[in-house]
Amino acid sequence: MSTYTYSAGPGMLPKEVMQEIQQHLLTFEYEGVSIIETSHRSDSFQQVVDSLEARLRRLMHIPENYAVLWLQGGATLQFSMIPMNLRNRNRFAYVDTGIWSKKAMEDARHFGQVEVIHPLIDEAGGMSFEPKLAQDVDYLHVTLNNTIEGTRFTTIPETDVPLIADASSNILAEQIDVERFGVIYAGAQKNIGPAGLTVVIIRRDLIQSMELPSYLHYGSHVDTLFNTPSTFSMYTAERVLKWVEDQGGVEAMERMNREKSDAVYSFLEHSNLFSSLVSGERRSLTNIPFTTGDRNRDKGFQQFALERGLLELGGHRSVGGLRASLYNAMPKEGAVRLVDVMRAFEEENHVSHQNI
Ligand code: PMP
Repeated sequence: MSTYTYSAGPGMLPKEVMQEIQQHLLTFEYEGVSIIETSHRSDSFQQVVDSLEARLRRLMHIPENYAVLWLQGGATLQFSMIPMNLRNRNRFAYVDTGIWSKKAMEDARHFGQVEVIHPLIDEAGGMSFEPKLAQDVDYLHVTLNNTIEGTRFTTIPETDVPLIADASSNILAEQIDVERFGVIYAGAQKNIGPAGLTVVIIRRDLIQSMELPSYLHYGSHVDTLFNTPSTFSMYTAERVLKWVEDQGGVEAMERMNREKSDAVYSFLEHSNLFSSLVSGERRSLTNIPFTTGDRNRDKGFQQFALERGLLELGGHRSVGGLRASLYNAMPKEGAVRLVDVMRAFEEENHVSHQNI
């Protein structure tokens, strides 16, 4: 029986990549030297960094006027590095789409005034915002995919100010037009590699010279490894990005993610027991919150699924319920298997329901 984990992060990584890493763990370049013990200043590690960056640039079509930074501290550290580094007027706009966007705002409030913009939902359930509301601010921040709520922006209007995107849960999972944004940042642990690595893609002209502690200044990290990075995570990420390229790139990933999420959403639409918590076009391709409508039954389903090798189907601790995260490395069979197990649970419950 295959085991699948539907965790919202760290998420699944491609099995082939993990097998390759396992095989090469003890010998990176020389016999007896592991990647884990290789200097980040060595030529061989520099090749990893160069290849990692080249692959990300190819996959996301990142032009040269953007720098790619490999940092630590998760997406959470970016919640403060962004306002710290981009402030001029000390006013920032944030679209409030849920818990992660609120956390980003809370940190920004340490550096200035936050204008909160509410998302617009159209008739088809698409999600957007009113760009005119972002005036006289240093930037407008959006969370492209809301990992907890299971929603995503379907339209990003043109703005007069730089757009900043938290792409933690959809980077490489769907196509993003990089040149629309001033900064795109993401924790690696969902679609890129192991935890402990954060990628920041920043338009070079937005990097200002500022009096900041050295690590916290974006300028310190441009085209150089400023300090010891998360070497093992970067090595693994380079292998994952090769895998993404071999699969056909982000376009192929998006197609697969649509197929996987469509399979789950269409089951939820027709289920008598389970229902989706989101409707319309803003449904996320990667995070699907759902429920039976009964807390105990949700817990019962989690246990039922666990016994069948399906892990981590609980909702975020702040909202409860159920959630399936279907990132790039989740094979189609993982989505099909989830539907089969939901159907089996439904049948079991339906029978007992009729018996009452
Ligand atoms: N933003 C989003 C959209 C997320 O999903 C997460 C983590 N799940 C974060 C920010 C926080 O990321 P990290 O744990 O890497 O700090």
